[in-house]
Amino acid sequence: MNVLVATEKPFAKKAVEGIRSIVEQAGYTLKLLEKYTDKAQLLDAVADAEALIVRSDKVTAEVIAAAPRLRIVVRAGAGYDNVDLAAATARGIVVMNTPGQNSNAVAELALALMIFMSRNRFTPGTGSELQGKTLGIHAYGNVGRLVGLKGKALGMKVVAFDPFITDEALFAADGVERLSSVEELYERADFLSLHIPATAETKGSIGYERLMSMPKGATLVNTARKEVIDEEGLARALSEREDLKYVTDIAAATQAELDEKFGKRVFATPKKMGAETAEANLNAGLAAARQVVGFLKEGVTKFQVNK
Ligand code: NAD
Repeated sequence: MNVLVATEKPFAKKAVEGIRSIVEQAGYTLKLLEKYTDKAQLLDAVADAEALIVRSDKVTAEVIAAAPRLRIVVRAGAGYDNVDLAAATARGIVVMNTPGQNSNAVAELALALMIFMSRNRFTPGTGSELQGKTLGIHAYGNVGRLVGLKGKALGMKVVAFDPFITDEALFAADGVERLSSVEELYERADFLSLHIPATAETKGSIGYERLMSMPKGATLVNTARKEVIDEEGLARALSEREDLKYVTDIAAATQAELDEKFGKRVFATPKKMGAETAEANLNAGLAAARQVVGFLKEGVTKFQVNK
């Protein structure tokens, strides 16, 4: 049984060693395709793979068609919008993510971005503090919850909106106020941290109206996906309100224009780096390998996302 790890941006060496050990102990063969530069290399490598582990690599319908023996794809990470779910499902291929494994890394970056912006991007001048401010969490999943807890530790008031969480007690136990409307979330948040996945429903959903409803001096923090932002609406709101700021880990398609037009009020990390810690890299890689083995050996589908 061949397990292919295909990573344009490779896992850390320690993670690869761990993955190899889990796969080989299960009696399978590990194949590595790292730093590939051409789609053809991936199409070639998947030809005899039963299992595929990727990071942000694009698993398109073409890749799936080139992999006749493929049974499982695991995206080592949280968001799985890089995998063509419809094409996989049509072939009966199980797709999984590794939820929670990189959440702490992303949450720490979200807080770092807030401090960076409130301290004038570490340039001289009077900044402001997070303590006492209201932190709005849009989607209280693995990352959102950790951002909320860390925000509380910094003395922030935390409010959250996530209509899909059924465990009401979770918010109270965390000391977080659950809001029932997304409108109220934006109206109250001095810092709004985005943690919604990119879905048909959420794509382009955060724009002019949401931003304009935010309090004076508010900052929108995006460590989720660029696709959830309506960039035209964002630019319009930033033009009309000179007090608003936007900071992101995923540069907008129009980032150069935003930078030029709004200067210090906008910032994008040079490259998506939320999950880029040694710890997250290792955790997600090992979890992916364990999930592949669990599925191939025992049919475990716990983290399947295309049920
Ligand atoms: P998660 O699946 O644990 O949580 C997502 C939450 O979103 C769930 O609680 C769900 O109920 C909620 N949700 C879904 N649709 C919603 C909607 N329309 N309105 C409000 N809430 C909604 O995911 P996570 O691990 O917390 O990650 C969140 C997102 O962060 C991922 O989808 C991914 O896009 C992004 N992410 C980015 C990086 C990075 O490197 N910057 C790394 C990991 C994850």
